Amino acid sequence: MCTHKNKNFDGEDSIIDGSKNKKELNQILMDNFKDYGYYGYCSVNIDDEKSVCTNVPEPNDLKSELNNINQNSETKNPTDVSTELNQNNPNLAVLYYEDHSSHACSNLKIPDFEKPERLIDAFQYLKDNKIFNDDRCNLVTDIDKALEKDLLKIHTKSYVSFIKNYSKKGGGFLGDSTYVTKDTYDVAKMSAGAAIRSAELVIDNNYSYSFALLRPPGHHAGKSRYGGFCIFNNAAILARYLQQKKGIEKVMIVDWDAHAGNGTMDIFYDDPDVITLSIHRSPHDFYPRTGFMSQIGEGAGEGYNINIEMPVGSENVEYKLAFDEVIIPLIKRHSPDFLICCCGFDGYYQEKTVQMNLTSKGYYQMIRSIKSVFPENFVILMEGGYHKHNGKLCHSVINALLDRPNPIHDDLKYSKYESQLHKKVYNKAFENIFKIKEMFSLSSINDQSKADNL
Ligand SMILES: [Zn+2]
Repeated sequence: MCTHKNKNFDGEDSIIDGSKNKKELNQILMDNFKDYGYYGYCSVNIDDEKSVCTNVPEPNDLKSELNNINQNSETKNPTDVSTELNQNNPNLAVLYYEDHSSHACSNLKIPDFEKPERLIDAFQYLKDNKIFNDDRCNLVTDIDKALEKDLLKIHTKSYVSFIKNYSKKGGGFLGDSTYVTKDTYDVAKMSAGAAIRSAELVIDNNYSYSFALLRPPGHHAGKSRYGGFCIFNNAAILARYLQQKKGIEKVMIVDWDAHAGNGTMDIFYDDPDVITLSIHRSPHDFYPRTGFMSQIGEGAGEGYNINIEMPVGSENVEYKLAFDEVIIPLIKRHSPDFLICCCGFDGYYQEKTVQMNLTSKGYYQMIRSIKSVFPENFVILMEGGYHKHNGKLCHSVINALLDRPNPIHDDLKYSKYESQLHKKVYNKAFENIFKIKEMFSLSSINDQSKADNL
């Protein structure tokens, strides 16, 4: 069973409507987290009146055999310095604000996956590694909240008012893995404000790129809908801001969070001026259970929404194929005036319940790939990533942007058996990518990419 009844504020009721008894509410909570893929972490005691999630044990072993992989130990000293690097000395702004930590559900007695430590630890990691002791990588902390009128470019008035008022009353768990605290309205406006500032730094302050470490994430939020930890859709708010305030016509949003960017898709589904592309784990059996390849937009927006469904267990080589064969050709084709990347780190192999197998090299590769056709003037906004490795992955992304080698060594090693399983994953990914190329009339797939060559 899955419960989405709460999602829409224009006409539908909230699940937290007072009509449910404790047991029903607990069941709904359990279903919501199960739906998001985090059930393995959550031990629900429905007999406990005070606590919904009574303990948070180590994750159950929900991984497929494919995920039982040995990995190399990591080292911070890169040995694979590429000679192609260090050409134009691009510079980067990294945005961070401490105030996000008051959006925390620790007092709500629910599993706290989208928690402040996700960013606090990542930021600390970057500081410890002296990322900001560098003329080419500047930390920016003077960020203003997005204005209500900026939110209203995307979200309905009733939805914004709901979040504002719910926050004012102290908040609570909304359902669909989303919670609100008394500070959430302000923190979510900061998150959207960081997205806007990240683009201003590129457009007005001559930064080559910005990377915004923000939360709550945004890509599941629709016009009048929260979901999957998301309150306001940061990327969508930025896209409209750019069009209305900066005279930018065509924006493209490329989202590689492990979950489909369904909120962003819905918002721009009939809009040809914001091209939305999401590469994610196939939603047939995975949150948000939408974001299928067949969903290509409608009306004037038909052909401007792209979903790339990746099979469970996909890793760097499958993502590289998707980038080479679909994403990069589509960026070239649309030639957007501005590019927004939604960067979720939950496709990382350490995100146990998501069951994808990207390593730092995968994220590094994606950025390098984008830079090969869109060398400057884009921003990266944080989305998901609930494991403890966000700092390292941020470091990989930053180094990719600055034309430096990947600092993290976390390659996966497959046994013979795992290699066989991986071939199946690759074949399925290949099939999907081939299908998308046909759907979008992209040139036929390169023979070199076929599975035999894996
Ligand atoms: Zn995600």
